[in-house]
This record gives sequence, C-alpha cells and structure tokens, in this order.
Amino acid sequence: MSKKYVYLFNEGNAAMKNLLGGKGANLAEMTGLGLPVPQGFTVSTEACTRYYEDGKTIAGEIVEQVFEALAKIEKISGKKFGDPANPLLVSVRSGARASMPGMMDTILNLGLSDLAVEGLAKLTGNERFAYDSYRRFIQMFSDVVMDISKAKFEDILDDIKEKNGAKSDADLTAENLKTVVKLFKELYAKEHGSDFPQDPKTQLLESVQAVFRSWDNPRAIVYRRMNDIPGDWGTAVNVQLMVFGNMGSDSGTGVAFTRNPATGEKKLYGEFLMDAQGEDVVAGIRTPRPISELKETMPKIYEQFAGTAKKLEDHYRDMQDMEFTIEKGVLYMLQTRNGKRTAAAALKIAVDLVNEGKLSKEEALLKIDPKALDSLLHPTFDPKALKNANPVARGLAASPGAACGKIYFTAEAAVEAAEAGDEVILVRLETSPEDIEGMYAANGILTSRGGMTSHAAVVARGMGTCCVAGCGEITISEKAKTMAAGGKIYNEGDYISLDGSTGQVYGELIQTLPAELTGDFGIIMGWTDEVRTLKVRTNADTPKDAAQAIDFGAEGIGLCRTEHMFFEEDRIPAMREMIVSKNQSQRVRALAKLLPIQKKDFKGIYEAMGELPVTIRLLDPPLHEFLPHNEEDIKKLAKEMIIPVEELQATITSLHEFNPMLGHRGCRLAVTYPEIAEMQTRAIIEAATEVSKEKGLNIRPEIMIPLVGEVKELKYVKDVVVKTAEQVISETGVKVDYLVGTMIEVPRATLTADEIAKEAEFFSFGTNDLTQMTFGFSRDDAGKFLDDYYSKKIYESDPFARIDQTGVGKLMKMAVELGRKTRPDIKLGICGEHGGEASSVKFCHDLGLNYVSCSPFRVPIARLAAAQAAIQEK
Ligand code: PEP
Ligand code: MG
Repeated sequence: MSKKYVYLFNEGNAAMKNLLGGKGANLAEMTGLGLPVPQGFTVSTEACTRYYEDGKTIAGEIVEQVFEALAKIEKISGKKFGDPANPLLVSVRSGARASMPGMMDTILNLGLSDLAVEGLAKLTGNERFAYDSYRRFIQMFSDVVMDISKAKFEDILDDIKEKNGAKSDADLTAENLKTVVKLFKELYAKEHGSDFPQDPKTQLLESVQAVFRSWDNPRAIVYRRMNDIPGDWGTAVNVQLMVFGNMGSDSGTGVAFTRNPATGEKKLYGEFLMDAQGEDVVAGIRTPRPISELKETMPKIYEQFAGTAKKLEDHYRDMQDMEFTIEKGVLYMLQTRNGKRTAAAALKIAVDLVNEGKLSKEEALLKIDPKALDSLLHPTFDPKALKNANPVARGLAASPGAACGKIYFTAEAAVEAAEAGDEVILVRLETSPEDIEGMYAANGILTSRGGMTSHAAVVARGMGTCCVAGCGEITISEKAKTMAAGGKIYNEGDYISLDGSTGQVYGELIQTLPAELTGDFGIIMGWTDEVRTLKVRTNADTPKDAAQAIDFGAEGIGLCRTEHMFFEEDRIPAMREMIVSKNQSQRVRALAKLLPIQKKDFKGIYEAMGELPVTIRLLDPPLHEFLPHNEEDIKKLAKEMIIPVEELQATITSLHEFNPMLGHRGCRLAVTYPEIAEMQTRAIIEAATEVSKEKGLNIRPEIMIPLVGEVKELKYVKDVVVKTAEQVISETGVKVDYLVGTMIEVPRATLTADEIAKEAEFFSFGTNDLTQMTFGFSRDDAGKFLDDYYSKKIYESDPFARIDQTGVGKLMKMAVELGRKTRPDIKLGICGEHGGEASSVKFCHDLGLNYVSCSPFRVPIARLAAAQAAIQEK
C-alpha cells in the first residue's frame, strides 16, 4: 500500500501537528471535539517534502489520494465539484507546523467556473453574491497561484467602480460584477497566455502545488530564519468546504482571542464584520467592530461562540486565536491555534494560567518564547519630553512600545536606511508579507488602514515592534513619499514618533527611556531561577552595564573586554603611545599612564558586582584598531611623544597587517609584550585588594587569557600573570582568590583542550572567533554573502547568531570532554554572542557548561532559555 498523504479532518488530531501542520491538526482536533467545523481534508507536510524531492512535481499517488478525499467530501456535503446545479466550493490554505502568519496565502471559492457560478447564483438566489465570489476567486487564484499582480485586478475594479459611480465594492451590481469577471478573465488570459481554468480539479491541483511552492518563497525563507523554523519541515495544505460570511445581514465573519493578545487581560477579544468574507477583516478594507457588539447583533451566536472559545481554551490550556464565520445564522469554526501575543501578555497569561490551576509553573515557562522578552525590555517615551509633545493623529494601539525615527514609505527604503544606521519608522497604507524585511528593520510601523488583526498588527506584535495601525487620520501617498497629518506634510526622512500602547502619532522626535518591567516579569524570572541549573552571567565593560545586568538577574561577569575601556577620548592617547612604543621603556612609561585608569574601571565594576565573580580578559584585539589614521591625530600623538611625525608614520606603516584578525592579537600580544599583561594584572589585583579593604568584600577576579591555541603560550602568559598577582598580594598584604583561565576560541585549543586544561582553571568558549575560524570566514565580512547561502538553502541561520551545533558544537563538545578529563572540576562557560540566543543556551545546558554570558539585555532571555532547557531535560 502506498503511503498516506491525505487525511480527512475526522482522521486526525492535535498531536499530528508535524504531519498535518498546525492548522490541519487543530481542525481535526476541533472536529473530534464535536465543534461546528466545515469538513475537509489535509494534504500532509510529507506530501510537500515529497513534492520537492520529486523536483517540484506532484506524484500520481498524492493526486489520487486528493481526489479520493474530495469524493468523500462531496458525499458529506451532498455537492459535487464543478456541478453546475450544486457546485462544491472549497478554500485552500497553507498550514505549516509552526504558524507563519501572512507568509502563505489563501484561496477562497475554489471550484467556481463560468458554469458553476450560474449554479451558485440559482442555488442562493443571489446573482450578485455568486459573481462577487467568482471575481474574488479569479483574483486570488491569479495572484497566489499564477503570480499575476493583485494591483492589476484592483485597477480594473476601481475603474468599474468609477464608471458606475460606486463608492465601495458593496455598491457594485450583479451586472457590474459580471463585467468585472469578464475583464478579470481577459487579464488572466493576457498575462498567463491561456484561459482561466474551468476544470475545478485543475484549479485544485494547481492551488495545492502553489501552496507547496510558497513554502520556499523569499518571504517564507526570511520568516523561517527569523523564527528558527527548519526549511525541511514543509507545509501542509488544507482543503475545506466553503462557508460564506457574505450572504447577507445574517452572515458574517470574525477573528477573536480568548484573552487580549496585547495585554493578556482575560476577556474575549476580537472583531467581526457582518456580510463579509474573512479576507475583508484581515485586509482592513472595512473597519471591523469589536466582538462584544456581536452580543447585540446576534446574541445566540455570541453565546455559542463565547462557549466554544472557553471550551477551546480549557482544552488546549492556552490562549486561543480563532477564526469563525456565520452563514445564514449558523456558526462555523474555521481555525483555532495558540494565539500570538506580546511579551507582556505572554507573561500575564502564563502567570494567570498557573494561578487558575490550568498549568504547572514548568508548563507555563515552556510556553513563553525567550526571544519575545526582548520587546519587554524596549523603551518607552521620556514623560518629560512627551509632556511638550502634541499628537498629530491617532490610530489603533496595535503593538505596544515607543519608537521614533525617520519615515520611509517602502520596505526597501526602510532596510536601506536602517543599514546606513538610521532609526526608521516604516509608513505604509497597509503592510503585506512582502514588507517583512522592512518591518524587521524598522523601530516602529505606522499604517493608515487595517484593524487590530491586520497584517501589520499581527506581524508587529509577533516581532515585538511598536505599531500603530489603521490610522485613518493620516493621508499617505506612497508614490509621492509624503504623509499628511495634523495639517502638515511629512517627507521621507522626516522624524515622527509612535506610541504603540496608545495609538498616538507624533510629528517629531521624542526621546525614549528604557523599559520598566511588570510584576509578572519578576514572577516568571523567579520561576526560571527555581528550575535552571545553568548560571547566567553578563558581558559588561562598564559599571553601568554591570549594574543593568544585575537588575536583569546576572550572576557575574563572564567577559569584560578590557580593550573597550581604551577607546574613550581621555585614554586613547596613552593607548596609542603604548602601541607605537619602539622599546620597552617607552612602553612601560605609556602603560604606567594606563594603569590608574584601568584600575579605576575595575574598581567600579567590582563595586557594581559585589562578590559575584568577574572575568576580566587581557587585551585582545588587533592593535591597528587603536592606531591613529588621520593626519591630525598622527601629528598630535607625535607631539605628545616628542618624536618626529615621519618616525611615527613609519611605525604605523610597519604595524600594518594583511589579516589583522589572524594577526598580532590575543595572547600573542602578551607573548611579545609581557609588560601589557603585567600592567593589566596589576590593575586587576590592586583594584581587588582596594575594594576588598574599602568595602569589606571578598573580590574574586578571574583573569582570562584570549586566543590561546597552544598550552605553552598559555603557560608563558599565565606565568607573567601569576608572578605579578603574587607580587601585588605580597605588597598589599591583602589575600585575593583569583583564577587564571583561557578563552577557547581557536580550533586548535579545542583539539588540545586536555593539554590546555593543565594550565587553565577555567575555559570560556569564545564562539564568535571559534565560529569565524571553524568556518574560515570573517565575522565582519560574512554578512555580504550569507544571504546567498540562505536563499540557496545552504545555511538556514546565521552561524554567528546561533551556534552551528554540527561543526562548532562538535569542537565545543570535544573541548568539554578533554578539559574535564584533565581537570574534572574545571569551570566552563561561554561568552560569545551565542550566550544570549535561546537555542544556543539550550545547547550549552546540554553540554553541561556551568554558565553562559551575554549582553545585559539578553540576560532575561538566557535565564528563561536555561530554565526551559532544564525542564525539557527532565
Ligand atoms: C569571542 O570570540 O567569542 C569573544 C567573546 O571575543 P571577541 O568577540 O571579543 O573576539
Ligand atoms: Mg574572540
């Protein structure tokens, strides 16, 4: 028997999500629960992967199974595909394992043809409705399946409206719509080179394949990368009996959440439109009404829907996002899924569900996306600045947070401006999936059309980006690149500010302040600490960053990059002097200037961290980063050093390296110039003795030697460090417990970790360099070509953001095993950027590291990811 690729809704359940996709599995589950679901079938994700394996063709056995299922649906419905007397109409929708909102499109009214439309008209006694359905179908099929631009159809529609004095689509008569259909079909034939398909089976197969293809469109690839969705999952296709919300005043359609997706408030939340199809709500063409009003419009239906919503939430034990249609006074459920929500709502819902006894703390923690916490930590407006500002317009508060930036009217312009370093607000009539990259690049999104469930609103909430949607008070001309609001015209590049929590739009730049966290945040973070075993430290180079990280729950500093301390105005001259020193005595003199500065910095950091461990890394970067490059700076430095400009210029030239990242940096500097390591060690230990004495604290610095690849180079530098440290301790008479360890960031270090562990008291994986050196491409240049790797499906994600577990991860695993073999109690951590990325944190937990270290704002993310890893391990 051949493999089963097609499942009727009554053959599946929620547990079959991998096979049926989220939407298909939930339709099956709802069917099983006895809810009113229009019946249909799901073509599995395996059929999609098979389609790709077969070189983008649909296998005969899949086609056969589709038609078999179709025959069963015909039987259930009593209608027949293509039957002019009683035509069966279906919707075709994509549905991947993880929801990818707006990434793949829907086709409605499939099955209509020149003959079937007549049948539908007769059957419903509503010719206008039949032709309206047909023109919608032609437009969607052409756009989604044949890639013919929607705008061309809109132009025809606008033209007919104008000619007939119709203000909106609703004013068009049946005759008008017949003309529209005729013109649409002509356009189709012209663009596609053949007539609009009249055979519904052809329509269906073409549509199924289009959904399969849409899995791999550029937007979907970008979305997957942003959301860590593997490319080989594929999407399922759901074929479902049509029900119509546009059959008159006793019909309607809507979307609703069981709790408010922006705040988490426990109250049915959503919107609906009477006499409309689902796309009208999402597209924001007409402004929908709040779901609470359905109680007055159709009290019985409201009761039934509210009851169903509660049943679904209790069943799934999570907030649900549902789509429904009312056809001639009968309610149908078209979809349910765990609703997307803002981070604030996610925390509130998690806490509430635990308090309501619906979830355990651990289950609740698993439901929160660590990445989403990011948005909680985002800024709000400075109230003082806000006081003096006047809003120029108000729209829907679609996604909370505050943002300011320069306005751009296309996604491309927004991306370009953001890449050039501008703060950007994307301003659009309405957004569509094509805008996704621009939306990611923007600080905020403003649209003039669309409701709370419009594309802009849904996607912005998912991304945690501030969004004001449906702001009808502004007039946007995307062509002229202008926006009119409050009697003023704003041009591309002008500043505006958005408040996504109130919907206010300001025609000026308003300064923002860092985020304040709610009580739920503290509760959730407390829970993470109860279960996680992995410690979370921070990468911080200043007392301010250290203090911020402590606020977020950091348990130490895992990386203090000392070179960052030397870039400031008052320090760089001494640093430069040290670098261009021709001999040791010149260098020692320059280092003597740096010592007190460095010591002061360390004292500040120790004081901020109390007795928490602090890892300080010795000087690491290529020295040329510090060299003066312009004439003025060179002259100034020569004067300070009392040497001729030419001599200094010659030294600078001699320090040139062809490949500085692989050049004279890291521990190699201390091998050549041990006095640098001496000065830094002295600063580290003297600062520790002073803070220990002054504050009565037990300061335990961890001195970290970077870029080690050979145990002997580590030993050489370590000896310098230990000798200096011991000297300071004996000079001051204050005992300091310090450790000396190394970064593991050169592949050779991972291969010889057993040797290296003889000298190192701790390892900290520097996965930025380790990734760079393992892949053999530069961390500064990879951005230029990685996009080609994503689009050609060679890589799915940026290896500098997520640990490449297969390659780099294998080296890490080896280093952990070898290191522990030599020194069973060796302390192990990670301080590369990956330390704050959820999947990498899980990987580090699974490797058995003691801690991850990440930037202060990612500490909460790492805490939650570490907790989830611990729970999943159980
Ligand atoms: C690393 O390489 O991972 C690291 C933390 O060091 P840096 O980024 O400073 O090279
Ligand atoms: Mg490094």
